[in-house]
Amino acid sequence: MNTQVAIIGAGPAGLLLSHLLHLKGIASVVLESRTRADIESTIRAGVLEQGTMDVLNEAGVGARMRSEGALHHGIELAFGGQRHRIDLSDLTGRAITVYAQHEVIKDLVAARFAADGQILFEVNDVSVHDVDSESPSVRFTHGGEPQQLNADFVIGCDGFHGISRPSIPDQLRRDYQRIYPFGWFGILVESDPSSEELIYAQHARGFALVSTRSPKVQRLYFQCDPKDDVNNWSDDRIWSELHARLENSDGWKLKEGRIFQKNIIGMRSFVSTPMQHGRLFLAGDAAHIVPPTGAKGMNLAVADVRLLSMALEEFYKKGRPDSLAAYTETALKRVWRAEHFSWWMTSMFHKFDDASPFQQELQRAELEYVVSSRAAATALAENYVGLPFA
Ligand SMILES: Cc1cc2nc3c(=O)[nH]c(=O)nc-3n(C[C@H](O)[C@H](O)[C@H](O)COP(=O)(O)OP(=O)(O)OC[C@H]3O[C@@H](n4cnc5c(N)ncnc54)[C@H](O)[C@@H]3O)c2cc1C
Repeated sequence: MNTQVAIIGAGPAGLLLSHLLHLKGIASVVLESRTRADIESTIRAGVLEQGTMDVLNEAGVGARMRSEGALHHGIELAFGGQRHRIDLSDLTGRAITVYAQHEVIKDLVAARFAADGQILFEVNDVSVHDVDSESPSVRFTHGGEPQQLNADFVIGCDGFHGISRPSIPDQLRRDYQRIYPFGWFGILVESDPSSEELIYAQHARGFALVSTRSPKVQRLYFQCDPKDDVNNWSDDRIWSELHARLENSDGWKLKEGRIFQKNIIGMRSFVSTPMQHGRLFLAGDAAHIVPPTGAKGMNLAVADVRLLSMALEEFYKKGRPDSLAAYTETALKRVWRAEHFSWWMTSMFHKFDDASPFQQELQRAELEYVVSSRAAATALAENYVGLPFA
């Protein structure tokens, strides 16, 4: 099998890249280890930056996002029993849209198939070969048969646990990592939204986040021990923990509902560089991870593939490899800014068991500064809605 660009992974990065390339007349094949039903139903991210919305709209896959997604003009920060609104639109002229990642995936899969795009689901034993030549290939099994996909380029969009990043020799790679001593306990709840906007809460018992995925499905999180077990948490215990962390003096109340999913996610910051080795390029979670506090993961994946699609267009249409060669440097500028913002949000809202009383007072002083200074609130807001693309 031959194509121009072989893409490993049908997450937001791989599917969007395939579609952007198609719009530029460049052929690709996407290889995905899971089933279509699986990728279309895994609930993960939900906050789309303005720039992400623009890319999806320009790619012609934004219709459902525009009609079913919820435009949010602000977020709330809760601490000391009070809520404070950060008016994103007033401070930056931009906004975010809450539209679940699996809905973005459904829109992209539909768009790829409507354009006769090739996505092979349930592939196994994927490996990349000859990426330091001009004829790289990907080997895999599909339907029990060994296959080889020959391409000009291989793009690893296979997430943090994929095979692409480890295909770059260890001695050529530098990984930066921070693992946080806490995780997030996430629940999905059948109920109306408790709040029109997301609430980020700092509390002596730990962080909590009130978020939403649709008018009838709410996504709530609270900081937990990453080694905890969801079976230790009855529904009653979860609600009582969330009520304790979200207590406030203005009468606002969290709405309860049927909990239909519980999970615990670890928190890490991670960057691997370079994001290119020969004709193998990495995009999205394959190259970097942020703790979800800044809502940046999916947005960074979109930013990476936007860059790659433009660089590949320049290569194919003008014969110029310069932008491809500059990919790591260009992409990492945005990545490190998002890494810093995500680390900062995480540090400001979470309980650190080893924090001294001095550090706790610094944390409180920082939160008070963010909600009382327009300059500080603007710094948070412009990072949250996403910096403009360079
Ligand atoms: C609980 C949670 C909440 C989050 N909240 C937010 C948020 O609010 N906002 C935000 O922007 N981000 C958020 N994120 C992060 C976001 O979900 C990820 O950053 C995003 O999915 C990255 O997209 P990706 O395409 O790079 O990787 P992935 O979505 O991980 O896609 C990789 C794909 O590759 C496939 N694959 C893996 N290995 C192979 C292989 N060997 N061969 C073939 N296929 C393979 C996988 O099955 C998968 O489909 C959250 C993440 C989690 C876990």
